[in-house]
Amino acid sequence: MVSLHELGVTQGDVILEISYLVAAVLFVIGLKLLSHPESAKKGNGWAGAGMVLAIITTLLLHKGPNGNPIPLANLAVIIGTILVGTLIGWRVAVKVKMTAMPQLVSFFNATGGAASALVAILEFGNPDNASLLVTLLGLIIGSIAFTGSMIAYGKLDGKVGDVFSPVMRYVNIIFLLGIVGITCYVILGNPDQASVLVYALFALALVYGVTFVLPIGGADMPVVISLLNSFTGIAAAMAGFIYTNQAMILGGIFVGAAGTILTILMCRAMNRSLMNVIIGAFGSGGAAGPGKEAGTVKEISLSDASVLLYYTQKVVIIPGYGLAVAQAQHICSELDKLLSENGVDVKYAIHPVAGRMPGHMNVLLAEADVPYEKLVEMDDINPDMPNVDVAVVIGANDVVNPAALDEPGSPIYGMPIIRANEAKNIIVMKRGMGKGYAAIENHLFFNDKTRMLFGNAKDSLQKLVTEIKSM
Ligand code: NDP
Repeated sequence: MVSLHELGVTQGDVILEISYLVAAVLFVIGLKLLSHPESAKKGNGWAGAGMVLAIITTLLLHKGPNGNPIPLANLAVIIGTILVGTLIGWRVAVKVKMTAMPQLVSFFNATGGAASALVAILEFGNPDNASLLVTLLGLIIGSIAFTGSMIAYGKLDGKVGDVFSPVMRYVNIIFLLGIVGITCYVILGNPDQASVLVYALFALALVYGVTFVLPIGGADMPVVISLLNSFTGIAAAMAGFIYTNQAMILGGIFVGAAGTILTILMCRAMNRSLMNVIIGAFGSGGAAGPGKEAGTVKEISLSDASVLLYYTQKVVIIPGYGLAVAQAQHICSELDKLLSENGVDVKYAIHPVAGRMPGHMNVLLAEADVPYEKLVEMDDINPDMPNVDVAVVIGANDVVNPAALDEPGSPIYGMPIIRANEAKNIIVMKRGMGKGYAAIENHLFFNDKTRMLFGNAKDSLQKLVTEIKSM
C-alpha cells in the first residue's frame, strides 16, 4: 500500500482537508438553522464557527506551491488585517440602527464582491492558479457585485435616486458586450497586453455594476438585492477555485445558491421575471393612476379605533417598513396580547417584500416575541381577507396598494399584494400621506372602508394600548 508520505501528503494536509469538511458541515447546519427566526441566531453562530475553524487551520497548515508554510511576516499581516476588519465590523454592527440594517447588509455584500475581485486581479497571470476563465469570472462578477451593492446601499439610504432613461438599456448592453468581448479576447487571444486589458475589464465591470443597478427602481429593488447577494457568493466561489481552497469554494457556493433561490422567490413575490426586472418594467415613481381621483381620506379617533378593535372577532395586522422605522414591534405585540385576551383572533399578514430586506417583518416580529404561528404568508391570508373584520395596516404602503391589481399603467401593476382592501374595515396607521418606496399614490387610503390613524406608529399604538386598558 502506498503511504501518504510517498504521495507527498503530510498529516497537516489531511487535517486541513478534514477541517474544511467539518467547516462545510457547520455551514450547512448554520444555513438550516438560519431558515427559522427562532433558531437564526444559533445558525449564525454555527456558520461563524465553521468560518473561524477554516481560517485558523488555513493559517496554521496551508502550504504554498513550494511546500513551505505561510511566511511569518505574511501571517502577521493577515492576522492584523483580520483583527482590524473584525473590530470595524463589530463596531459598525453594534452601532447600526435596526432600520439601517438593509443598508448594512448591502454594504457588507459590496465588500465581499470587492474582496473577490481583488483576489482575481492580484492572482491574474500567476501560473499556479486555476483556469484563466475562473479568474476573469471572479473579477467581473466580484466587481459588479461591489459597485452594484454600493448603489443599492445608496438607494436604500435614500442618497441615490432612480436614474431611468431608455438610453441606459443600450448603454448597459454595450458595456456587457464590451465585457464579454474583452474576456474572450484575453482567453482566446493570449495577447501581450493582457494585464492592461484585465485592468480595462476591471474598470468596465465596476462601471457596469453602477449602470446596471441605477435604473432599477421602486418595488423591484428586492430582486436586485438578492441577485447581487448571489453574485457575491459566486465571486467568492471563483476566488476559492483560484486558490483551490475547498472551504472558500463551498462557502461561496452556499451564498451563491441561497442568493439565487432568494432571487427566484423575490421574482415570484413580485410576479416578475428576472429579465423583466433587469431590462423591462422599471418601478420609477408616478402619480395616481390615470383617470382616478384621489378623493378624500377619513380619520378615526383613538377611542373609536379601540372599540372597533377590542369588540371584534377577526383582526389582521399588516406590518410594513413604517413599523420598522418606528420600532413599534414591541408595542404592536402588546396590543395583540390585549386583543387576544379578549377573544379576538389576531393574525399578521406577511408580504415577502415588506420592509427593506427579505424577511424584514419576520425578524422584527420575532424580536418582539410574536408567536411564529400568528404570522401568515400573503398567499395563505388573502383568500380569508373578505372574512376579516378589521385590517390594521401599520406603516405599510406599497404591499397593500390596490394599484397593483387594477391600474395597468402603475409601476407595481402585477405585483401580488395583501388584499387589505377586501377586509370589512381598514385602519391605516402612518404619519401623514407620505408615499411608499415605489413613490406612487395609494387608493386604499381613500377607500370608503378605510380610516386613517395619523401619527408615528409607535405613539399611535401606545395610545391605543392605553385606551384599551382603560376600557
Ligand atoms: P413602503 O415603503 O411602501 O411604505 C412605508 C410607509 O410607512 C410609508 O408610506 C410611510 O408613510 C410609513 N411610515 C414611515 N415611517 C413611519 C413611522 N415612523 N410611523 C408610521 N408610519 C411610517 O413599505 P412597505 O413595507 O409597504 O413596502 C416595501 C417597499 O420597499 C416595496 O416597494 C418593496 O419592493 C421595497 N423594497 C423592499 C425590499 C425588501 O427586500 N423587502 C428591498 C428594497 C425595497 P408616512 O411617511 O406617511 O408615515
